[in-house]
Amino acid sequence: MIDPFGRHISYLRVSVTDRCDFRCVYCMAEDMTFLPKSEVLTLEELDRLCTAFIEKGVRKLRLTGGEPLVRRDVMTLIRSLGRHLDTGALEELTLTSNGSQLGRFADELVDAGVKRINVSVDTLDEGKFADITRWGRLPQVLDGIAAAKDAGLQIKINTVALRGVNDEEVFDLIEWTGREGFDLTFIETMPLGEVDVARVDRYLPLSLLKAQIGQRYEMIESDHRTGGPARYVNLAETGQRLGFITPLTHNFCESCNRVRVTCTGMLYMCLGQDDSADLRAALRADEDNSALNAAIDEAIGRKPKGHDFVIDRRTKAPSVSRHMSVTGG
Ligand code: SAM
Ligand code: SF4
Repeated sequence: MIDPFGRHISYLRVSVTDRCDFRCVYCMAEDMTFLPKSEVLTLEELDRLCTAFIEKGVRKLRLTGGEPLVRRDVMTLIRSLGRHLDTGALEELTLTSNGSQLGRFADELVDAGVKRINVSVDTLDEGKFADITRWGRLPQVLDGIAAAKDAGLQIKINTVALRGVNDEEVFDLIEWTGREGFDLTFIETMPLGEVDVARVDRYLPLSLLKAQIGQRYEMIESDHRTGGPARYVNLAETGQRLGFITPLTHNFCESCNRVRVTCTGMLYMCLGQDDSADLRAALRADEDNSALNAAIDEAIGRKPKGHDFVIDRRTKAPSVSRHMSVTGG
């Protein structure tokens, strides 16, 4: 799959549910209305859809959500998708999780062929963690992460930079991940979906965070790339690698290799644009995937050049109306 700007699409993110056991303040409103089950793709449909993309050249598949591990019987899907790792069609099967269910699933994930996972942790302070996630409890997440480590999973921690919330904790997070052998990536908040709090009050440009890190560590720019939006530095003192995802202060679209599918089968060619293609209708149109394949090809042909996110005092509305939990982070 090659888009109009010559970018090879080899990375698919699939949101397997819009539901979650947390209500992070920048991601969801507290009283979210979730989709009726009938609108959500079945596990069999998700399998067919992922397989169609793999046959078209997707080499890396990330399951996300909502919280992927709260979808009922999600391990059935993950185990089934693992067959594409065995044949070599798929290079990597991975997921992004809030960590709450890892205690239950870490060993099974390893058995299914998952080698690495991303876990979102914005703070190591129990009180702040409860404030940010509303319903999450830090000890449960840390136990889940420990179980994942024991099971042999490589772990990357994703931290959303939040002004006045976790900017004081940058060094604690760096030291914790360094000690545990986890990668760490900081993310800027993105204006996705209406939430109850004003994002501009919490928005922390990563340029400021970097300046803060620079007071204690020498940062050496790294040319390490994963094909994604993150840019990396190595800390001279410890050798630890840190990632930064800066959709607002630095646009990363020129190297974008990914597309995203929601749990209802909507294909979004860009996280920051509203254009989409309805793959559920195509999936249900026939059994032999011909409508599905045609719909995918047509959609890739109109992948946009990039997004134009804005967070400032004058721009009150989110750039796109759907929440991150819909498109999947
Ligand atoms: N529930 C899982 C988790 O939290 O890791 C997977 C889905 S979550 C939507 C994926 C990632 O998106 C998380 O790291 C979360 O912090 C991030 N996220 C959610 N809303 C965001 C926003 N408005 N801006 C930036 N990142 C956001
Ligand atoms: Fe749930 Fe992840 Fe959104 Fe938090 S960021 S509410 S854990 S989907």
